[in-house]
Amino acid sequence: MSDIRAHDLSVVLDSRTVLSGVGMQVRGGDWLAVIGANGAGKSTLLKAVAGVLPYSGEVLIDGTSVRRLRPRERARLLAYAPQAPALPADMTVFDYALLGRTPYIPYLGRESRHDREVTASVLERLDLGPFASRRLGRLSGGERQRVVLARALVQQAPVLLLDEPTTALDLGHQQQVLELVDRLRLADGLTVVTTLHDLSVAGQYADSMMLVSGGRVAASGTPVEVLTGKLIDEHFGARVRIATGPDGRPEVHLERP
Ligand code: ADP
Ligand code: MG
Repeated sequence: MSDIRAHDLSVVLDSRTVLSGVGMQVRGGDWLAVIGANGAGKSTLLKAVAGVLPYSGEVLIDGTSVRRLRPRERARLLAYAPQAPALPADMTVFDYALLGRTPYIPYLGRESRHDREVTASVLERLDLGPFASRRLGRLSGGERQRVVLARALVQQAPVLLLDEPTTALDLGHQQQVLELVDRLRLADGLTVVTTLHDLSVAGQYADSMMLVSGGRVAASGTPVEVLTGKLIDEHFGARVRIATGPDGRPEVHLERP
């Protein structure tokens, strides 16, 4: 199991400070949900941790600085599914998901039978088997989103970073994706960081939560500590009622003003 620690992360984009002094700690095998209003800096934080964006500060996986890793090594350690990546319209679902195996395929080599089997099995688990030979340009939004997730899972990295993995999905597929990620977490000890829009869902799956606001950490702790009416009012400008679910986890309900 791999733990993640980040210190003093800052990101400047177009000479604007988008993320500032963010610290983060996730124990190996835990699930951290990052929440915050639109534009708070959630995606930027995930990109910095994934190393796809220049940042200052330090990201450590099991004590190793991610910055020092070569791209191949990093990809074996860390899989990242962006919120809305540009997909090559003419590529098939299978070939795109297979790209997740790139860090295991030798230079100038071909994928192995094992690589193809891993890819096929992930597609199957996400109901994408029947779409394997479909071109990416011919998928619905929800299908595209599951294909992006598939590529990340095919990577079989111990750290999984998912940026709003359920936003375009219908209720059934939301549950399927979240349960699959949770099952992999428990079975293989994956460490999971997701941004999630739905606060109740975030509170249901996460071990810990982090509220980002204006590029800084506004609160972090257990779901009960972070999902309070006061913090949600302050940082989302929403009036909500917090109930306690049967498992003791908080449920966030919108209230009409
Ligand atoms: P979130 O995921 O929380 O909605 P983002 O991390 O995507 O927010 O964005 C944080 C802020 O950074 C927003 O105000 C956004 O407009 C800004 N931003 C994102 N990308 C860029 C960029 N390439 N150049 C300048 N500002 C950007
Ligand atoms: Mg975002």
